[in-house]
Order: sequence, then structure tokens, then C-alpha cells
Amino acid sequence: MTIRIDEEKVFRLIEERHPRAIIVNAPGGLQAQTRALTEKIREKYGVSCLLVGDSCFGICDTVDEEVEKLDADMALHIGHNAAVSMVGDYTYLIDATDDVSFDGVIEKAIPQLRSMKCERIGLVTFSQHLHELEPARMKFQAAGFQVFLGKRNNLLLDSQVFGCDFSTAYPIRDEVDAFCFLGESEFHAVGLALSAILSVYKAMDAKVFGVITGLKEGQKMPGRTNWIVKRLEMHGRRVVQLAMRDITPERLAPLRDVDAFIQTACPRISIDGFTFDRPVLSIPQADALVRLLEGREIGEFLQRPKWIELTVGLIPRRN
Ligand code: SF4
Repeated sequence: MTIRIDEEKVFRLIEERHPRAIIVNAPGGLQAQTRALTEKIREKYGVSCLLVGDSCFGICDTVDEEVEKLDADMALHIGHNAAVSMVGDYTYLIDATDDVSFDGVIEKAIPQLRSMKCERIGLVTFSQHLHELEPARMKFQAAGFQVFLGKRNNLLLDSQVFGCDFSTAYPIRDEVDAFCFLGESEFHAVGLALSAILSVYKAMDAKVFGVITGLKEGQKMPGRTNWIVKRLEMHGRRVVQLAMRDITPERLAPLRDVDAFIQTACPRISIDGFTFDRPVLSIPQADALVRLLEGREIGEFLQRPKWIELTVGLIPRRN
């Protein structure tokens, strides 16, 4: 498996914009390739190129604000391909593609889908495998399946999903018998749903809530935070308001007087991220908690096209 960063686009941008200094960030799995790219940029153009070492999990993790802080001219955010070419004022998205082939797994999936009488399938995938959608579609169609792709929108490309945004797949969910996900992640849908529901019920007993606003660029939701804080206080809970860039068990450990947390950053932190010693609810779970506190049914709170509304400043893709 080889990951290829779109270096041609990087070189083209540098030649067009003549930056003096560039800030770069990338997910953990692309750090080595990204570091090699920063060295190439320095050698080829003599441009200062600074790789940000903080965590980077998604398109919400851009470093646009660092450009001004560090007196640079532009930022490159590697590996979260999307339907936009820029976010914020300075940040260009640079695609990375993975050359893994899905031919083998599709061949294994075909008899299984047939045995489950699935004739209409929807395809979904993450950024790095978008180029595999068309070969996969052709392979499934050649085997007699009717194949549906999700329609692109202002953030996602055709059939693309993020961990918090399924808005391309959601509209076709009733047209298909099954979704096939092209990627390496494992979705334990039932287990995730059960643990998410359990955390909501556990949080019902909490007297003191820590409500955490995420500090990552694409996740800042003070409006949602305030809405949740007001609802909790209306129902007699004490609230401690916090802001954090990385929400981990270690960071929450010293806050011993807090019985449960609600975080308005990445929903996957709560649902399949870490093992916390107290409930840490995401926005959909907080909505479910508010429903319960108001004496209503918990509802299908995970069944929504987006688990959060990413606040990245979107500029449409031109290439
Ligand atoms: S908020 Fe969404 S885009 Fe950001 S890391 Fe979480 S799942 Fe990924």
C-alpha cells in the first residue's frame, strides 16, 4: 500500500503564489510522507516549511490561524480530499490517494451480498479511496448489482463520507438494500449505537456537567455549547464550561468533581474514540439527553445525515 500526496499541486501553488513561509499539517499516518514533502519544498524553492506536530484527524483540523501567528503566507492541509479546494483564508487542501485495490474484497463480498438477497447497493468511501469508486461500481454492475452513488454537496464529493458526515449516503438509504464501504475502518454499527445510548442514560444521573467547546478550527460551536448549557441549567444541573483542543481521558482525569461531560467537537471522540471513565457525550447524544430530561422519548438520535455541522470556511474546488 502506497500513499501518494498530490505534490504537483503543491509545486504549482508555490510557483503561482511565491510564499516565503508555509505551514503544513497532516494526519498521523501521513506524517512521514509529509515530512519528506516539506524537505523537498525547502530544497526546490528555498521556502521555509513548518510541519505542525499536533493531532490531525479530519478536515476540521486545519491550521489556518497558525499562518498569521507564525508569520507565514499559506497553509497546506494534507490528506482530507473534499469538494473544496481551500478552507479559511490561507489553507489549501492537498489530496492524498491510496493505491490499495478493492478487487479482492469485492469478489469476496459479491457472494455474501447475493446470499443476503441484496440487489441494490450503495457505495461509500473515505477521501483516500475516492478514485476506487468507479472501478468498484463497474465490478458490482458487471456482477448484476444495481449500484447507487451518493450525490456530492458543498463539502463532500460523490459517495464520500467523513466520520461525522454521511450526508451523501443519507438520501439514498431507502433506495439500497446494503451499503458497501470501501476502506480499512471497521464500523461496529450496533455496538456503537448501544454504547452511545448507554452513555446517555448514565449521564442522566450526573449532577455536575463539564461542557467542552472544541478548539479545532472546523469544530468551534459556541452556539451549540450555549444551547446545551442553558438546557442543563434549566433542569437543575451544575455546569462547568471548558475549551479544549484534544479531548482525551488524560486531560479529563484531573476534573474529578465533574460527573459527566458533553463535548461539541468531534462526535467520534465520544462514540468510538477513547475509553473514558465517565460519560462523554457528543452533540447527537446531548440532544438525546435533553429529550430525556424534558420527559420525551430518546428518539433515533444517531440517524441523521451529519453528526455535527463542520464550521470549516468552504471555498469551492476548482480543479
Ligand atoms: S469532526 Fe468530523 S471531520 Fe473532524 S475529525 Fe471528527 S469525524 Fe473527522
